[in-house]
Amino acid sequence: MDAPYARIEQLEPGIARILAHNPSAFTYYGTQSYLVGAHEVAVIDPGPDLPEHLDALEQAIAGRPVAAIMCTHTHRDHSPAARPLAEATGAPIIGCAPLALETVGPRADASFDGDYAPDRLLQDGEEVDVDGKPILAVATPGHTSNHLCFAYEGALFTGDHVMGWSTTVVVPPDGDMAAYMQSLDKLRQREDRIYYPAHGPAVTNPQQYVRGLIGHRMQREKQILKLVGEKARDIPDIVASAYPGLDPRLVTAAGGSVYAHLLDLERRGLVQRDGETWTDA
Ligand SMILES: [Zn+2]
Repeated sequence: MDAPYARIEQLEPGIARILAHNPSAFTYYGTQSYLVGAHEVAVIDPGPDLPEHLDALEQAIAGRPVAAIMCTHTHRDHSPAARPLAEATGAPIIGCAPLALETVGPRADASFDGDYAPDRLLQDGEEVDVDGKPILAVATPGHTSNHLCFAYEGALFTGDHVMGWSTTVVVPPDGDMAAYMQSLDKLRQREDRIYYPAHGPAVTNPQQYVRGLIGHRMQREKQILKLVGEKARDIPDIVASAYPGLDPRLVTAAGGSVYAHLLDLERRGLVQRDGETWTDA
């Protein structure tokens, strides 16, 4: 596949994209870093610490002042290039909070970047100015508890909260389905004209797309409730019934997602567990 690795794709005035060479079952063709601004720039999701990706980012920056290096969250496919890029450009790292979990349960997603050390945290609604235009932090916990989206000139950089190629992995203990659904609802109430996710193509119909994602999760929840209503089931049983023909590489992630739904349903008093098995309440 001829993916545009290390190439600068100018998506619109003031927004360019550079794809890192870290393809996987969770990253699609790889992580997409974004450059925002013209005379001055910010880098959103600098990506993995790969020499050719850092070279490509520096080429795209082309000597312009870097106002901020911003990470949506601290999975290892998003934030590790922040430090070397900060050292190369003198720019501050501004954005999501640090977060490192030693154990994330069964490995169903990228691990956390424990070396991430921001110079400044952005809370929900706080801004950074680039070229006199604000980049606004929109807190969107769910995929991870520290996840932020960034809004700029009608575009929303959605990180892994909303992706252009697949549904988002939401795996406990850090991933939280109730928070994720609330964060989707938060996006539904916004009026962004386009989403630029860290993985997959841009989303040009944000409202419709987010409504579809919310519907998909509600459908999944209904299906899980129906399955545990029939008989007591463990998670592998639910995954086998709910995801026929699933790519074997994604079975662990699907199990994590089912677990996230079950925890949410348990909190709402709709299911109960007995050891490894779950039934309706
Ligand atoms: Zn992630």
